[in-house]
Amino acid sequence: MELSNAKSYLIPPPKKQMSGNKTRPHTLRRILLAFRPYWVQVTLAILAILSTAVLNLCVPLLIPLVFDDAIAKKNLSHLFLYAFIMMVATVLAGLTGVLQTYLNNIFGQQIMRDFRNQLYTHLQDMPLRFFTSNRTGEIQSRLSNDISGVQIAVSETFTTIATNIITTVTIVIAMFYISPLLTLTVFVLLPPFLWMTFKIGKVRHRASKAMQESLASLSALMQETLSINGILLIKTFGRKQFAKRLFEVENQKLTRLGIRQQMVGRWFFMFVYTFFTLTPVTVYLIAGSLIILHIPAIKISSGGIFAFILLQSKFFSPFTQLLTLHVNLQGALALFERIFEYLDLPVEIQDTPDARRFSPGDIRGEVAFTDVSFTYRRDTYALSTESAEAKERATRRKPDKSVTLQEPPQLCSEVDDQNTLTNISFHIKPGMLLALVGPSGAGKTTLTYLLTRLYDVDSGAITIDGYNIKEIALDTLGNLIGVVTQETYLFHATVRENLLYARPDATDEEIIAATRAAAIHDRIIELESGYETVVGERGYKLSGGEKQRLAIARVLLKNPQILILDEATSSLDTQSERLIQAALVPLMTKHTTIAIAHRLSTILAADMIIVLDKGRIVEHGTHQELLERAELYAGLYKQQFAHLPPKTI
Ligand code: ATP
Repeated sequence: MELSNAKSYLIPPPKKQMSGNKTRPHTLRRILLAFRPYWVQVTLAILAILSTAVLNLCVPLLIPLVFDDAIAKKNLSHLFLYAFIMMVATVLAGLTGVLQTYLNNIFGQQIMRDFRNQLYTHLQDMPLRFFTSNRTGEIQSRLSNDISGVQIAVSETFTTIATNIITTVTIVIAMFYISPLLTLTVFVLLPPFLWMTFKIGKVRHRASKAMQESLASLSALMQETLSINGILLIKTFGRKQFAKRLFEVENQKLTRLGIRQQMVGRWFFMFVYTFFTLTPVTVYLIAGSLIILHIPAIKISSGGIFAFILLQSKFFSPFTQLLTLHVNLQGALALFERIFEYLDLPVEIQDTPDARRFSPGDIRGEVAFTDVSFTYRRDTYALSTESAEAKERATRRKPDKSVTLQEPPQLCSEVDDQNTLTNISFHIKPGMLLALVGPSGAGKTTLTYLLTRLYDVDSGAITIDGYNIKEIALDTLGNLIGVVTQETYLFHATVRENLLYARPDATDEEIIAATRAAAIHDRIIELESGYETVVGERGYKLSGGEKQRLAIARVLLKNPQILILDEATSSLDTQSERLIQAALVPLMTKHTTIAIAHRLSTILAADMIIVLDKGRIVEHGTHQELLERAELYAGLYKQQFAHLPPKTI
């Protein structure tokens, strides 16, 4: 009971499939398009396959001559000649086979590389909403497991298809040449076989898809529960047993699906081999009877019978592989569909064709919000391929301003309740410090997300120096705005590399100037390898305050026109807090700053304070003005700061 309930909040429910179990018609076309850049290698590989198939026919086609010409007429020189041709053809077939595998590997690996690049680039373009709607483990699984899975389809399946089609065609021609009637007998038996294979293929396709989904789910669960934060949560809440059981349930599901998948495959092979053993028996029976009964329709020498028997056995082998391949291909198509599903997700936030690019000096840092409203959409991004239904849902949720203005107050508040931010308007002159204050969940962080275009506004406009941010190229916007948050992310790289991330061309002097200003230089040189010490996820662990000062140095190096500061410092001791405050001074004095203010010093220094409550601006003014109004701000101030001696920056 506990398990199923708990699972429902810990793990999002399985996603709806966008297209059910059916392969979308354009999937095959898209796969073929991936081959297009490598058409030269593909053509050469096909030629190599064709040569191998023709060379392989030499032995069976020479058999009637060996029997009916060389042996029957006791001609030793002809026997040697036929044997020599057979040997040379066999060796050449082996060599062309190797050449074909080589060519096939070249384009197979390159196509995989292209898919990985495409998917990674597309994921980089996804908005934050996509990452908050999907588990990291699942995203990574698609990038690594699924693409490795389809590698089989690209490099092996291509060879199998081409080799077996060409071999089958050449063998059928040779069989017809020897005996059309016997060939037709073999063909009559094929349709029931094909039908059964198709049916089993469908079951295997479903099993393979379910298996991949279960694998992705398990790796997402592992990623969540074995990450540092996940393990911390589990340990501090004493939920080890719970996590273990949750894992066992998923693991058991995977085991069950694995057994099912293997068994479907085993049944398939049992069916294939039984059929192929019985088919020749039928052919021998018919051909034998016709010969014994002296029916003239069959005119075949003993050498011809040997050759036909050999060809027939060779015909079954590629046919088996082609039919098995159909089953494997179904599994591979399922993987391709999963990849295309991600590639097809719309890029919501992107540059317009005429997006403006500015160099840092061109912008003064004047920020204006005009009537901005925003709501976090509740639909999962992975599902919303902008289906008509999703669009309709999204439109339904958008507040209709004309209605809001005209409807009575109760109805307004109903619409407002759904909005994270409603009708936000303010204006900051270059170099000003704006402090955002308000209760938890009021929308302060969201407001800063809109300025950086991590999300786009639903209505209204945000401008920088009079330019709508939607007209500014995203990389320019990224350069103009610097963000310092309480949660500092450092890459698993050296201190220097982490700093250079802000500005790759920064000189050593500039780096040191920035770290000195951020009061972290002295600490860095104390580290075992100074600026070359590896920090980050698995590197040297810096304290929260040290990490934050390093992040401040990174932003100082970037020198943005607009600074966003999320300055929660509750986890820091007084000494660290002082150091951070000192580090922030050079940033805040030079740049337009929007600070989510948790420190009295910032609030007192602010040119304007905006008080947010439930997504609306409820008050604005200076500290003194707001205190005199004795409303929400005055209450918050009393609650948090009134008993403390004011600190100065
Ligand atoms: P705090 O001071 O606690 O950080 P805040 O004022 O910064 O709060 P926001 O983080 O902006 O508040 O959140 C505003 C509202 O939006 C909250 O109700 C929050 O639950 C909701 N919210 C935040 N992020 C998302 C998200 N990705 N999806 C849906 N709702 C969200």
